[in-house]
Amino acid sequence: MLELINLTKKYDDYTAVDNITLKVEAGEIFGLLGPNGAGKSTTVSMISTVKSPTSGEIKVDNKSLNKNPIEAKKIMGIVPQDIALYEALSAKDNLEFFGSLYGLSRKELKKRTLEVLELIELMDKKDQPVSEFSGGMKRRVNIGIALMNNPKLLILDEPTVGIDPQSRNHILETVKKLNEEKGMTVIYTSHYMEEVEFLCKRVAIVDHGKLIAMGTKEELKEKLKACDTLTVTFNEATEKALETIKNIDGIEKVTIKNNQISMLVIPQESNVMNIMDSLRNLGIKLTSFKYDEVNLESIFLQITGKSLRE
Ligand code: ADP
Repeated sequence: MLELINLTKKYDDYTAVDNITLKVEAGEIFGLLGPNGAGKSTTVSMISTVKSPTSGEIKVDNKSLNKNPIEAKKIMGIVPQDIALYEALSAKDNLEFFGSLYGLSRKELKKRTLEVLELIELMDKKDQPVSEFSGGMKRRVNIGIALMNNPKLLILDEPTVGIDPQSRNHILETVKKLNEEKGMTVIYTSHYMEEVEFLCKRVAIVDHGKLIAMGTKEELKEKLKACDTLTVTFNEATEKALETIKNIDGIEKVTIKNNQISMLVIPQESNVMNIMDSLRNLGIKLTSFKYDEVNLESIFLQITGKSLRE
């Protein structure tokens, strides 16, 4: 459905998107996960033809975007990060106005507007001016606009940043529903690993413009020999004891910040108990303990040495 081939975007000397190659299959929800500044929005802007690539190619439904931009736009719905709505107009009028740009007939436009209001669950507020909406509701109208032409491919750029938890859940559920019930292919960019884990089977992890890993969570776990995470806090420990932690068997990497120790642990049943025993033997007095099975956050930490939100 979408193919990026050696896609690169430079701003002067700075490479925001660096030689990215990936393929999104029809019918999947594909996650583009990376911290702020990773190049996600720049990638989406190139797919939406707002920005042109410095080099590389984009194919939509097997056709070059460069050669067939109008054809491609017909099957894509893009939800940019910035909300662009007419504040004085109602939700319904916004959808009708933006929908009219797709060239729908008057009758189709009316019908589709009602369908979309139903989908974004704003039917009861359809006549209210958007200026009275919360950030989350405005974001839902923005998504509605991208749905007006019933796209085969929906691309959402960090759609839940800065909105209330209720709208966030609503957006996640809507995306899932569009995929499951209407077979819509979705590309979902985010720096929230929980969202990507919830929605996406396959994910591309990006950092500093580069694709650093791609696959299902299971494939990434296998390929990277990814670790579980054990986090403890302590109120007493000598410098020497802290120095020695990295030598404990079963630990891949240790990060100590203030009185918290984060350890990447090789997933094996006996490891956690052994590590806890070793910490006790080193005279480290623990006040809390948390064990997390491998997730996209720890995979990211393992590859880049930093957390997604740093
Ligand atoms: P993300 O969406 O993952 O947060 P962006 O694609 O917005 O990342 O940005 C990637 C990098 O490109 C950032 O370092 C950002 O500062 C830089 N960047 C984005 N737009 C421009 C621009 N118009 N001119 C120069 N640098 C830019």
